[in-house]
Amino acid sequence: MSLNETHDPVLTSWVESANTPGGDFPIQNLPFGVFRRAGSAERFRGGVAIGDHILDLAAARQAGFDTAASSAPALNELLAAGPPAWSALRIALSRALRRGASEQATLQPCLVPQRQAEYSLPARIGDYTDFYTSIHHATAVGRLLRPDNPLPPNYKWMPIAYHGRSSSIAVSPHAVRRPIGQRLVQGAAAPTVGPSQRLDYELELGVLIGPGNVQGARIDIVEAEAHAFGLCLLNDWSARDLQAWEYQPLGPFLAKNFATTISPWIVTLEALEPYRVAWERPPADPQPLAYLDCPAVRRRGAIDIQLEAYIESEAMRRAGSGPCRLSRTSYRHAYWTVAQMIAHHTVSGCNLQPGDLLATGTQSGPLPEEAGSLLELSRGGREPVRLSNGETRGFLHDGDAVILRAWCERPGAARIGFGEAAGRVLPALA
Ligand code: CA
Repeated sequence: MSLNETHDPVLTSWVESANTPGGDFPIQNLPFGVFRRAGSAERFRGGVAIGDHILDLAAARQAGFDTAASSAPALNELLAAGPPAWSALRIALSRALRRGASEQATLQPCLVPQRQAEYSLPARIGDYTDFYTSIHHATAVGRLLRPDNPLPPNYKWMPIAYHGRSSSIAVSPHAVRRPIGQRLVQGAAAPTVGPSQRLDYELELGVLIGPGNVQGARIDIVEAEAHAFGLCLLNDWSARDLQAWEYQPLGPFLAKNFATTISPWIVTLEALEPYRVAWERPPADPQPLAYLDCPAVRRRGAIDIQLEAYIESEAMRRAGSGPCRLSRTSYRHAYWTVAQMIAHHTVSGCNLQPGDLLATGTQSGPLPEEAGSLLELSRGGREPVRLSNGETRGFLHDGDAVILRAWCERPGAARIGFGEAAGRVLPALA
């Protein structure tokens, strides 16, 4: 993939709000989602975010614009179509939405304001896998659990993951019920069952899979990115007390299976092209085995995506003070890349399918304040984080909302954003 006319930073749109500096959805972005008018009985259909509007792809199709398969109520068919179809659609959308385009008269009536929209999941997600690709997160969490030996011996050799639960993935804004489960309170002789007392968020990105592979046939690292449609924000809500008691030997189960929140918009890999950076492995670390390595991974395998997590407590909401930022980092610090996740996932012969979701694992930067979870920021709850209004948090309280945001910018390229993934904690059921 390479830069083309759709990335030109001087492009502007006849949708005026797309030209506002600092906005998430300029004409260089063109992310895909599935929406309808909020509270209506309309069919969900594909859309593209442009400024503060959505181009309704079902309406555009009816008006004669070729939307490929993107106007359907789930994007799986578009995902299966692969990079040539995705690129053709992107360039057609870019040309039709540019200032001065002859399609303006046809497409203007197909715009829906985002403030009037509600979203569904962008695709039918068959399977969901959560990786653990931030070495800074893995080290910090490992230190809390195993101070002498924080990183598992396999960590630097392969992108490790667990198979997650797709049924409980929902689109932002997401009302998340505090989970109930077993937890062994420190010093107690036996576990009890009850609401998690250590509910946490995880700042992650999701990767929506495009064309799959035949069972038994792996995806080569060189081809791997052609199987990834794009990225979204992802919050892997985590019950740390349930996790600590249950995770050995088979990994997380109830601690992670009750809710995952993703942002409505999928930013395509093509839109992310200007923000690619070299992927480096420290020379003192093991170098990747051949099936996880190739020149393209080294040259441009990482992506510089700025990531932020915010909290808005009930008190902040009442005061109208707005949310408080918990941390900021970049996806460029990931130890393993998107291509390496895909190559490793399938080396066994496991078949990915269009609409599968891979998550990157919590993204934490090298500095402690760049951590992507409260577990790290509060040192396992021992040093509660002080919020902007004076409240403190070891873990999440009922009523807390967590809002994840992301964007990319660099000189010579437009600034593009991901929107947000927001979820609010509801009290546990009695
Ligand atoms: Ca996770």
